[in-house]
Amino acid sequence: MNKIGIRGTVWIASDIHLGDSVPHTAGAFYTFLAWARRDADALILCGDIFDAWIGDDHALRQPPPWLAEAITQLRTTAQAIPLWLVHGNRDFLMGPALARALGARLLDTPAVLGTDAGDILIAHGDEYCVDDIHYQRFRRIVHTPWIQSLFLALPLGLRRAIARGARARSRRARGRKTMKIMDVQPQAIERVLGEAGCTQMIHGHTHRPALHEMSVAGHPARRYVLPDWDFDQADPARGGWIEVDAQGIRPVARVPLQGPQD
Ligand code: MN
Repeated sequence: MNKIGIRGTVWIASDIHLGDSVPHTAGAFYTFLAWARRDADALILCGDIFDAWIGDDHALRQPPPWLAEAITQLRTTAQAIPLWLVHGNRDFLMGPALARALGARLLDTPAVLGTDAGDILIAHGDEYCVDDIHYQRFRRIVHTPWIQSLFLALPLGLRRAIARGARARSRRARGRKTMKIMDVQPQAIERVLGEAGCTQMIHGHTHRPALHEMSVAGHPARRYVLPDWDFDQADPARGGWIEVDAQGIRPVARVPLQGPQD
């Protein structure tokens, strides 16, 4: 399993779902990035930073204004502190060209972070929703390298249409699935924590921020779930992150409600 040492104050956020119609969420997230540059020693964005990703070439060559702004903000952050990007189920096609352009690094997950609060297993979370058989089948297909290459070779308009179709199908399917099926499976979590020899985990994806206490091979273990961000549709607005340092692991609910401020 991938293991990296990452000391000092580490901030972890996920599921911001940046896109072309969430200006308030983007504004809050950019305030958060400014705070991270000031107060954190490293930042990990734990997947679904973007609501969709149809190729680095689209983002880097002729990005629409909202995406150009997102790239500028992330690049500014990566110039100040180490920035790690994790693939989510939406932006799993973020590639090395994007990471290079940002000065960020892609973190292969699951990964173990060696932090001042001990070892922490990091993943987006969708890979442990193993009761959702239909989703896992879809995931296997879209994670197949030759299928990804084929998709990325298609004209942009076609890629956009395919991504839109996939999102619509996933929305319809969500209506038919129970909350339990769409959550991570406890046994899958215990298995991966056991394999990693780890008793702490942080993931996102489910949009159900929580602290779950459990037991792994007889040892007490903790699983923290990150919140998603929504400052456009949700009332009240929501967002947040997790702070890791020598004092431990803490969810932070303080969310940036206005534009950048210091
Ligand atoms: Mn997700």
